[in-house]
Formats: sequence, C-alpha cells, structure tokens
Amino acid sequence: MSFSHLGLSEKVLAAVAATGYTTPTPIQEQAIPHVLARRDVLGIAQTGTGKTAAFVLPMLTMLEKGRARARMPRTLILEPTRELAAQVQENIDHYCAGQKLNIALLIGGMSFGDQDAKLMRGVDILIATPGRLLDHTERGKLLLTGVEMLVIDEADRMLDMGFIPDIERICKLVPFTRQTLFFTATMPPEIRRITETFLHNPEKVEI
Ligand code: AMP
Repeated sequence: MSFSHLGLSEKVLAAVAATGYTTPTPIQEQAIPHVLARRDVLGIAQTGTGKTAAFVLPMLTMLEKGRARARMPRTLILEPTRELAAQVQENIDHYCAGQKLNIALLIGGMSFGDQDAKLMRGVDILIATPGRLLDHTERGKLLLTGVEMLVIDEADRMLDMGFIPDIERICKLVPFTRQTLFFTATMPPEIRRITETFLHNPEKVEI
C-alpha cells in the first residue's frame, strides 16, 4: 500500500514524499479515507503509531479549498499539554511546506497580545490546550463558529488531567455540523460516554 491510493492531494503527497515516508502506517491507511469522506472518526491508537499524520494529512488536503476569516479558525486541534501541542505544530510544519497556511498555537505561557494578533489574521489550523482556548473565547477574541474540523487528541490523558468539562464546553461552541476526529489510547467508561455525545455515527479505527 502506498500513500497515493488514500485520496490525499498532490501537494500533500509531495510533502509526504519529501519527509521520506513511503508506506502509510495502519492507522493512517484506515483513518485517512474516512477523514477525507468527512466522516467522524474514533481512533483508538497509542502515540508512536503515526496518528498525528492520520489527521493532519487529510486536514491539509481539506484546507486547500477556502480561506480563513479573522478570529474564526477553520480547524481546531485540542491537546492535553503544551508540549504535545508544540509537537503537533512541528509535525504540521513538515507536512505543509507547499501550502500557504496560517497556523497558531494557543498554550499557556505565551502573551495574549501576540496570540490575539495571530487570530485576527485568520487561522487555518489552531492547536490549543483546553484552558487557554477557553480564556480566549471568554475574552471575545476567538469565535469557534467557523470550525469545520475538530480534533480531540489524547482524550484519555485529557480525562486524567480533569479536562473533560472544558472539552464539553468547547464542543458546545463549535458548530453541530463540524467533523470530529477523536483519538484515545484506551476506552474507559467515561471516554466511551463522551464519544457518544461528541461524535456522530463515527467510523471506529482500532489498531
Ligand atoms: P505519532 O504517533 O504521530 O507521534 O508519530 C510517531 C512517529 O512516526 C513520528 O516521528 C512520525 O514522524 C513518524 N511517522 C508517521 N507516519 C509515518 C510513516 N508513514 N512512515 C514513517 N514514519 C512515520
């Protein structure tokens, strides 16, 4: 199996080839076609399986059409920690070389002023930790009503860190019609419960 059969755009395929990947990992092979078909996905996979590219590559393909408006990010990736959020941004920087995209990171420890200025320019991909994201929505500097794709990554770690109430609040601020991609390494009952409210008829990908 090669990347070229998954439905990714030419630009994204070129970026993947430039990173040196030749074969999709099992989570990429299974999840990417569902993401491109705009289905919700429940991915049960550990870190190290290539799950970041499983959501980033189809996201980049989707973002080629349309453009971002001020304060209204088009896609939102939620991560439990600053470190994971920064790692995802680094990953995206590798894959989006051929595309003019605005990517912003909203994590604690960065100035609100710089983050506000970025949001005003229009953001294609917003990567955030839940608390900092809600700080921005409460200040009126960020609107989630334009989010087309929501990624909830490392959901079981979010649960361990007490972020589920924040995620529930965020899910009420994004449109009901958005696409949701949900990744977790394990499925405790609390995670199963929230998948039933956050995801609409999801495709389950378990590796
Ligand atoms: P992740 O599970 O997303 O943290 O990815 C784990 C590591 O696998 C990262 O260092 C990626 O750069 C690498 N990786 C992701 N997809 C592939 C692939 N298809 N072939 C080779 N390496 C990959």
